[in-house]
Amino acid sequence: MELAEGETLRVKGSAPDPYVLAGHGSWYSCTCPAWQFQKGPLTRRTCKHLKGVLGAAAEEARVREAEARAPRRRKPQRTPPRDTITDDAGREYELDD
Ligand SMILES: [Zn+2]
Repeated sequence: MELAEGETLRVKGSAPDPYVLAGHGSWYSCTCPAWQFQKGPLTRRTCKHLKGVLGAAAEEARVREAEARAPRRRKPQRTPPRDTITDDAGREYELDD
């Protein structure tokens, strides 16, 4: 089963009120605490309700794809400041180590 964008589905969970699953195009949301408090971007979150409705394999594949698409986190590369000398004309020269 799939949830189209803008489509919602109520799923009865352990809470008295049903959880609401919603489709957002390429990702899905759920109102359960497991989803709400999950770390990471919304597009990569999932929970047992989404897995139950959409299929665990399909959800896991979707999350993996979202991870693959996300820009990799890179450590900012810092180049150490180089010593420079300035000549009388105001020109700067970098000194090679
Ligand atoms: Zn849920």
